[in-house]
Amino acid sequence: MAGRRGTDALALATMIAGLVLCLIGQICWGWVGLFLLLLGYAFYAYTFFRMLSRNWVKRERENAWFLSIWRPVASWFSMRRTIWKDRKFYKYFRCPNCRAWQRAPRGKGKIQVRCRGCGQEFYQKT
Ligand SMILES: [Zn+2]
Repeated sequence: MAGRRGTDALALATMIAGLVLCLIGQICWGWVGLFLLLLGYAFYAYTFFRMLSRNWVKRERENAWFLSIWRPVASWFSMRRTIWKDRKFYKYFRCPNCRAWQRAPRGKGKIQVRCRGCGQEFYQKT
């Protein structure tokens, strides 16, 4: 593996996508199943191509492109999980000026909030 790229976030994602496509392809009948199976194998082939590639610059650029799409998605799910976890004690809302997430204890009525990001003051019902 000397000089090879190895695994990164995109390699992991394409491997998981290939696995899912192969599993769905195996339970589907006919041409659709065959197509999904071949597509899954194509994802595997791309994964191994990227892992064994010596062209670090190009692979790094592909990974950066993937992360630019993946990070906002992961962040959205992470925020939803946090909101759900704290739902009994905190109310989450966004600053009307900069859209940054804010948090306040529940049950305090209508309170004045100052955004930590931009300093904007606004009223928020908790
Ligand atoms: Zn703000």
